[in-house]
Amino acid sequence: MEQKTIDSIVAAIREKMPAYIDTLSDLVRIPSISFDNFDQKHVLESAEKVKELFLLAGLTNVQFLLPPSGRPSVYGESLTSPDKPTVLLYAHHDVQPPMREALWNTKPFEASLQGDRLYGRGTSDDKAGIVTHLAALEQVRAWKGNEGPNLKFLIEGEEESGSAGFETILTKNAELLKCDAVIVADLGNFAKGTPSITTTLRGMSAVNVEIRAVKAPLHSGSWSGPIPDPGQALCHMITSLTDGKGKILIPHFEDTLVPPTEAELESYKSLGMTEKIFRNDGGILDRVQLKVPENEILLSLWRRPSVVVTAMEIGNRLNAGNVLQDTAYARIGIRLAPGMDANIATQQVVEFLQEKVPYGLECNITTEDGANPFVTDTTHPFFKKMSESMSIAYNAETKFIGCGASIPGAELFRNTFGNIPILLTGLEDPECNAHGENESLYLPDFEHGIVAETLFFGGIC
Ligand SMILES: [Zn+2]
Repeated sequence: MEQKTIDSIVAAIREKMPAYIDTLSDLVRIPSISFDNFDQKHVLESAEKVKELFLLAGLTNVQFLLPPSGRPSVYGESLTSPDKPTVLLYAHHDVQPPMREALWNTKPFEASLQGDRLYGRGTSDDKAGIVTHLAALEQVRAWKGNEGPNLKFLIEGEEESGSAGFETILTKNAELLKCDAVIVADLGNFAKGTPSITTTLRGMSAVNVEIRAVKAPLHSGSWSGPIPDPGQALCHMITSLTDGKGKILIPHFEDTLVPPTEAELESYKSLGMTEKIFRNDGGILDRVQLKVPENEILLSLWRRPSVVVTAMEIGNRLNAGNVLQDTAYARIGIRLAPGMDANIATQQVVEFLQEKVPYGLECNITTEDGANPFVTDTTHPFFKKMSESMSIAYNAETKFIGCGASIPGAELFRNTFGNIPILLTGLEDPECNAHGENESLYLPDFEHGIVAETLFFGGIC
């Protein structure tokens, strides 16, 4: 591609950046939290806003695709010619709750510019994905006219609450959504300024465990001793899941793991992850030791399963007193590594925990919908094209990385469309604090991301 063409695309995008940031800010203003205990009218409102943006952008066939929950995915298309490839562009318009509002330095649902970052819930996860797709459409049209690819937009409305209805949406609308490749703009870069394509995702399985010893809480002075304490019993059950180093002790749990290839290992190494960087990015306290050596940090994050107790309830802190509690509850989340199966893993966890219940305590375990891990094949020419486009846009070498989190959509796309390239890109970075307080977007990479997607669209036609 001629440098002159690249320069003029970059200049055109730079000029429009204030407008793109405004559009993003409009989306951030809508608290579209897709959790049942939040008002779901805001998810509808953000779906309406996306629809409005689609119509403004001149997309056709704009419509809501409704899952059983009623949280709409928004569809629209820009078709050029049957001879051109068709790319499906995914992002999501729902967001996580703001978490502890007192810890936000700015209002979570008011986009706020501070230095080179834009703060606000959904800035990087994933409302920037929506704007990136729309901006790249505008730019490729200006550049190529009707010679660009066919673009289909699919903006989901319940990704953060687990994508429960997404499979139904894909299967029901498989013909409408038919495509040659998918860009899932819901991931991120290894570091700011380092363009990255994610090639593996971990999966997820979660169980809720409640154990009960007595009918109601008892005075611990009068009753404790002979009666098993549910709190300790649950802690024992949880610690039995792993050895001291975090290795999961459930038999055959890791039998089907797919080890990284030589090329993947090389790529991981080239990222130069050090314990110092990792500690700094994670805000890990000085005296806390990591469970793996420095050279295994990325392997541990991307290619191995991990257990996390995400919530626990044994009495509560406000009323803490000398009470033998009747019940103890924990939610245990397990990240699954590539090669594992969410249903099998969940079943293994349930059976293992049930065997560990001491003293015949009553134990009730419920499971949540899991997500399978994902591995993508990077040999398709579109991968090369995206990688080149990103390298040009960022002026830095594109890295192939893994991701420790789950995006159920990735596997669902493959199940629906077969073995087409699924390009996992996005604008999160280690400082963006997605899902936490003070979420933000690094604006220079917002621009780079739009340039990259524009170059990619132009490059595949
Ligand atoms: Zn997301």
